[in-house]
Amino acid sequence: MKNFAFNNKKVLVRVDFNVPVDKQFQITDDTRIQAVLPTLNHILDQGGALILLSHFGRPDEKFKPDGSVDVERFTQRHLLSHLSKVLNRPVQFCDELTGEKPAKMAAALKPGEVLLLENTRFHPGEKKGNEDLAREWAALADIYINDAFGAAHRAHASTTTVAKFFGPEAKGFGYLMDEEVKNGKKVLEHPDRPLTAIIGGAKVSDKILLLDRLIGLADNIIVGGGMAYTFVKAQGGAIGKSLVEDDRLDLAKELLKKAKDKGVNFLLPEDSVIADQFANEAQRQTTDSKSIPDGWMGLDIGPKACEAFTKAILSSKTILWNGPMGVFEMPNFANGTKTIAEAVAKATSNGAFSLVGGGDSVAALNQLGLEDQISFVSTGGGAMLELLEGKELPGVTAILS
Ligand code: AMP
Repeated sequence: MKNFAFNNKKVLVRVDFNVPVDKQFQITDDTRIQAVLPTLNHILDQGGALILLSHFGRPDEKFKPDGSVDVERFTQRHLLSHLSKVLNRPVQFCDELTGEKPAKMAAALKPGEVLLLENTRFHPGEKKGNEDLAREWAALADIYINDAFGAAHRAHASTTTVAKFFGPEAKGFGYLMDEEVKNGKKVLEHPDRPLTAIIGGAKVSDKILLLDRLIGLADNIIVGGGMAYTFVKAQGGAIGKSLVEDDRLDLAKELLKKAKDKGVNFLLPEDSVIADQFANEAQRQTTDSKSIPDGWMGLDIGPKACEAFTKAILSSKTILWNGPMGVFEMPNFANGTKTIAEAVAKATSNGAFSLVGGGDSVAALNQLGLEDQISFVSTGGGAMLELLEGKELPGVTAILS
């Protein structure tokens, strides 16, 4: 960002405005918009004009009954009033993604003006990384800035292909993208130790690569949430009707063995809060995670697990957290996630570096109002997961090549 002279330039910025909205299309959480404001304001302050590209929801997966795109639901017009409020100026909107209309509107932009194009996913070429589409978008501007970290793991036309049509001096990362990549790499490449990774959520299968990589990197690995029960069962525990992936039991055993061989402290919840049904009002009790009675399921980590996990977190210098410790959406099973969030915040105030990534752990933090007490909260769930897994992010590579 610092190397560009944006004055009098048209700047195509890929942002991630994929924010949650309510039934009236009011934005319920504008974190992702706030996160790109430093980039957008910098360009505007320097006298550049903005042409914004973003996707919003998954229109390509939720067609109307006649098979057409549900424009009313997924149009980015819903974002306009909020956007013009936070940017403090009018925002023009172009409801077409290609052809004369966006070309004319972009050409007419003056310094300090902003144009938002329609949802990139309305065009079938977006997800295919279509070159003709990307070329058209590239022709609208002098400079391309990618600040859409949340979409950086996608090789789409607006996140990746478009970068091909700009020389190295005319493309770059926005501030958010820069921060996300820098912080992810900080955890992976030169963490202060001990490094503790807290991994939770529903399924082991979603986090295999991450766990496998972390076993070579972290000093402590804490596993909670539904995925913990596959590990408990792999060790011979009785888990009742808790969430389990029976086809991953061997893999769980392998991961446990690998952790042991490498001297990694692999912590599973010693006890669990169990329920007789998957409901907030279910009957509850606390048991050893290895002896959950038939007909009961573990929906949260128990008090002993909270204590052991908290102890490990508070003794850490670097903390990575991805995924809740239980069904935190139900208040009766939110205590484990809350306790862990508080421990991460406390460790951070004691000087540890903490990175929280992944939609649900971020949602839990926000729910608890603790997001400001974390060193870095990632805006990209899937993208941060892939970065931490060591995968190349196409949106990042496209800028560097
Ligand atoms: P993920 O998307 O994989 O990070 O998983 C997040 C989801 O896992 C949340 O919706 C939680 O409610 C759910 N979850 C966490 N712990 C459990 C559990 N013990 N049993 C069932 N679901 C769980």
